[in-house]
Amino acid sequence: MNARTSQICKGLFADRDDMESAIEWKVGNGASVHFWKDRWSGVEKLCDLVPDIYRLANKKEGTVGEFYQLEDGAWSIELSRAKLTVDETRQFTVLLERLGLHNLHASEEDQYRWKFKRSGMHSVKSAYNRWSTEQAGGSRSSAKFAQTWRPKIPLKIKVFVWFLFLERLMTRAYRARWAPEDSTVCALCSGATETAEHLFCTCEVAREFWSLVGRFTGLQTTFHTVEELWVAGKAIKRANDNSMAAVVSQSIVPAGAWTIWKTRNKAIFKGTRVYQENMWDMFRGCMSDWGRHIARAGEVQFREGAMCITG
Ligand SMILES: [Zn+2]
Repeated sequence: MNARTSQICKGLFADRDDMESAIEWKVGNGASVHFWKDRWSGVEKLCDLVPDIYRLANKKEGTVGEFYQLEDGAWSIELSRAKLTVDETRQFTVLLERLGLHNLHASEEDQYRWKFKRSGMHSVKSAYNRWSTEQAGGSRSSAKFAQTWRPKIPLKIKVFVWFLFLERLMTRAYRARWAPEDSTVCALCSGATETAEHLFCTCEVAREFWSLVGRFTGLQTTFHTVEELWVAGKAIKRANDNSMAAVVSQSIVPAGAWTIWKTRNKAIFKGTRVYQENMWDMFRGCMSDWGRHIARAGEVQFREGAMCITG
């Protein structure tokens, strides 16, 4: 998994381990998978399987493809010392045996599979192609993802939004299909099953939060379905309005959804209590950061009934 992909996925899961345990790699040309730190060769990462060899390795970063010489079909592992102890030799043998089970294929893309999902492999590249096609309004989903809605938000959030839209977000109800023993109760209100629709739209905590967002942004923020979120998100910007306010406004729905998701993750994985004030602070933080860094706006401020952007 390359740095960009792993950064994106990191945002979608509570922590790196949670993410990694959800992904299974099928290595093709090895260009997208980290040699030492992704679980591509077996259940463990190679850095954990042979820690002493990892410590001695000259090259600690790099993709699987960079450790493999396609022309001679051989692995190349350089160590900082030639003479190995008995234990290091044993580990080196374990590593070579493990690598011997794998051949790379120059013509094939690396593929990953969400373990919790049964419908087979997805290639990283095709996933992004699909995302960008949808952004450009060229696929079957174009009716929903209109061309005019291209919020200036970090890539990580675009992918989050995309997962939510495609109903692939790992909500508790979604996850329960493959892990029926896990709780499916909404972490925000503890009162219903955590589907995407509940969590982002109809949950009482989400509704209260959206109503605050609506009060300060002037946006109509009563949502009953995920679909309505997109309609609202897109409707904000009129086709020919390229003013900074219009550009920044497009982040409102993604920032709101992201805030709900982060709050939910903190509640589940860290036991953090849910407070509207904290959600509001997080939302405002997203709007300011994205506005400044992505859309190059000045300050984004909220006053009663209005969102102000200073150039
Ligand atoms: Zn709820």
